[in-house]
Amino acid sequence: MFEKERQTMVEYQLKKRGIINDRVLTAMNVIPRHMFIPEVSRVMAYGDFAVPIGQAQTISQPYIVAKMLELLDPQFEDKILEVGSGSGYVVALLSKLCTKVIGVERIPTLVTGSRAKLKELKITNAGIVEGDGSLGAIHYQPFNKIIVSAACPEIPEDLVTQLKMNGTLVIPIGDRMKQKIIKATKTPKGLKLEEYGDCSFVPLLGLAGFK
Ligand code: SAM
Repeated sequence: MFEKERQTMVEYQLKKRGIINDRVLTAMNVIPRHMFIPEVSRVMAYGDFAVPIGQAQTISQPYIVAKMLELLDPQFEDKILEVGSGSGYVVALLSKLCTKVIGVERIPTLVTGSRAKLKELKITNAGIVEGDGSLGAIHYQPFNKIIVSAACPEIPEDLVTQLKMNGTLVIPIGDRMKQKIIKATKTPKGLKLEEYGDCSFVPLLGLAGFK
């Protein structure tokens, strides 16, 4: 179902805009994005935009997902945390790209829904934790990589603590309306920051997020 739409998404929204990581492109061709979207909105699943997933939240635009995953550069042996796992789509993609994935989500109905989707797809190397992801996922640390799928005013300290040395954090930093995608690498001398394009995510709420 929707195979053609998914291939078109990969060709025109991702490859044509410069996404070159073959593993990321393959995962986005394999994971059925429409399954993570409520049935009433499924016809929009492969459009070039974010789509509502209920509870005033969204599944991010395919290009932004691909761009952030390419910056994260998941390797097979990595354990990766996604903060703000929403529908579970990015967790499902990561399950194809690394050995273990943990998603943290604060809204209980999204936690239940995303767990059900992962089960339906027989994904066994990923789990969703309910809680405030601005504090990371203390019981599962340390992580090789962390991706944050909601806007943050600044980089939460706990996420840096829970990241392994030389690990990578990809996170949208800015105000509630507009942010920049930041890639932070943890080095012995501190965080090395690189700035990528503009984006617009829903806010990360919580102790180290927006109040
Ligand atoms: N990547 C997700 C997907 O594939 O569906 C989309 C994420 S959506 C843009 C952002 C998510 O972050 C929302 O589901 C929201 O509830 C969640 N969120 C916001 N603040 C959070 C927090 N402090 N801890 C955990 N999740 C949070």
